Amino acid sequence: RPVVAVVGRPNVGKSTLVNRIIGRRQAVVEDIPGVTRDRVPYDAQWNGREFTVVDTGGWEPDAKDRAAAIAAQAEIAVATADVVIFVVDAMVGSTDVDEAAVKMLRRSNKPVILVANKADNTSIEMEATALWSLGLGEPFPISALHGRGSGDLLDAILAALPEAPKIVENRPRGPRRVALVGRPNVGKSSLLNRFSGEDRAVVDSVAGTTVDPVDSLVEIGGETWQLVDTAGLRKRVGKASGTEYYASLRTASAIEAAEVAVVLLDSSEVISEQDQRILTMVVEAGRALVIAFNKWDLVDADRRYYLDKEIDRELRRIPWAIRLNLSAMTGRAVDKLAPALRKALASWEARIPTAQLNQWLTALVQATPHPVRGGRAPRILFATQAGVAPPRFVLFTTGPLDAGYQRFVERKLREEFGFEGTPIDISVRARK
Ligand code: GDP
Repeated sequence: RPVVAVVGRPNVGKSTLVNRIIGRRQAVVEDIPGVTRDRVPYDAQWNGREFTVVDTGGWEPDAKDRAAAIAAQAEIAVATADVVIFVVDAMVGSTDVDEAAVKMLRRSNKPVILVANKADNTSIEMEATALWSLGLGEPFPISALHGRGSGDLLDAILAALPEAPKIVENRPRGPRRVALVGRPNVGKSSLLNRFSGEDRAVVDSVAGTTVDPVDSLVEIGGETWQLVDTAGLRKRVGKASGTEYYASLRTASAIEAAEVAVVLLDSSEVISEQDQRILTMVVEAGRALVIAFNKWDLVDADRRYYLDKEIDRELRRIPWAIRLNLSAMTGRAVDKLAPALRKALASWEARIPTAQLNQWLTALVQATPHPVRGGRAPRILFATQAGVAPPRFVLFTTGPLDAGYQRFVERKLREEFGFEGTPIDISVRARK
């Protein structure tokens, strides 16, 4: 899915615009200074094209930090999005606060769409033509609130999106995309340096593929991988307060852009809420997952004892994740990473033939039928795998299933077919 990022000062109407683009399918919170919107990427669709909208302005700083914050937004948008929407207030135009961001956007190779919002009538629309002078191309006067001009804007967004990748069989594809994520100081840069040396990737091009300048191509285990958004690891975003917000935004977009995520944890410290949030991002994005316990050189028998308990408690919801104990410093088990990535990706793309799936299912429901509820038990009639990456299954039933029984089916499905390293999705379609 291509990513469209929205950049702009507080109060220019970014969240209203995002609502307009996604058709209000998910509620976006209003611009309230200082408030972080809790969910960053939104799914959108126009004329059959699907894309993701990211509101980079979810964190609204105090007035004095605005210039730094908007520059950080622009930097992230350029690093992670396919198309950048720069929003200004049509009545106000561009201000000093926008200056650094505008410069950065002008220099970037990304398509930028300049939106003059709050153009509620024709005379304000005329004013907006002055914005040509910003050097960001044609200004789009719109009223996000009333919908005026939003169709034209959506058409312009579609035109700027990269072509949908054509699926061509038997064509060697580019390197697999990996996100290396984790909270600050878990050792992401150290691990990256193990693979790529101090400055840049050891491999810089692969025939027939284009790689974003913010990514690195590195060789791991005799194979080239594309590590997404490693620019964020080499150079930290600004000094603006709210850096944590931007770091989490960056993590979310890297995961979105990847096929498999390596979540790095610090084995010498407790598994924190922030670690959990990152793991949740990966699961919710439906990406393959390898959890690497870094700094294993610091783990002694004592720590090992508590860590095992923590793992039981904190990672219970994701027993299927592939786990590695490594040390970026000593190099311990670093060679296990590539096989783990390959295994996770193979599970992520696995397809179970329908006949085999139903054979297994028939035996399962015969041995352990759904518990009787109100004199009846719903029956599972048939199952099919509706998709891959991650695997998605649909169960056709005579009625809704108990949550507990559905978990049981998932557990058994994993026992039978593996799926190590990938989330799977099971939905139920009950016959009326
Ligand atoms: P990042 O913020 O996730 O990129 O973390 P860094 O790579 O900058 O590492 C943070 C600190 O942890 C640095 O002082 C590293 O030297 C240290 N570090 C990284 N990996 C290891 C490891 O495997 N063992 C030990 N003992 N220290 C490590």
